[in-house]
Parts: sequence; C-alpha cells; structure tokens
Amino acid sequence: MSEEEQFVECCTHGKQQATYVCQHIVQSLRDGKPRGFWLAEAEPGDERPDSWCNACEDKVNSTGGEWNDESEEFAGVTLLCGACYDRAKEMNRAN
Ligand SMILES: [Zn+2]
Ligand SMILES: [Zn+2]
Repeated sequence: MSEEEQFVECCTHGKQQATYVCQHIVQSLRDGKPRGFWLAEAEPGDERPDSWCNACEDKVNSTGGEWNDESEEFAGVTLLCGACYDRAKEMNRAN
C-alpha cells in the first residue's frame, strides 16, 4: 500500500484529499441534479474510492461491464477535492 497521499487545493475547502469522479458527478455539484453514485472497489482504508454516475454505469455495462477507452472517454474522470466528493456523494444518493 502506498503511503503517499494525494492532495488537491480546492478553492472552497483548501487542501483536501484528491479524489476522482466522472464529469457528470462534477456537473451534479453545479446544477444540483442527482445522477447516481457508483463506487469502485476500494483499497482498505480508502474512504473515497473513484466514483461515477448512473449514465457511466450504464455505459460500462453496455460495453461488457469493464472500463475501456470508450467508457473512460464518456466518463471524463475529473479530480475533485475530498470535501466536494462527500457533498456529491450525499447529494447524488439522496434521490
Ligand atoms: Zn458519469
Ligand atoms: Zn472542495
């Protein structure tokens, strides 16, 4: 396990854990529309695994259930601060 934690400087929350989510989840933080929240299998101790929305989940399932170039391009995975991640998680799950 890597000891190296990645950090991101958020203009709202300051220095935070770096997390990765699909572009649609970032979008949901902007427009307030829930889009679902799916999680990657997490490393032990990782509270904030990579996540993606319903549309990305459908995309992955439609291409055999594994991430590939097409679904990754669709997802457009984006760096997000840990606090924004928590907010997105809460918001996208409350459907
Ligand atoms: Zn998505
Ligand atoms: Zn933030």
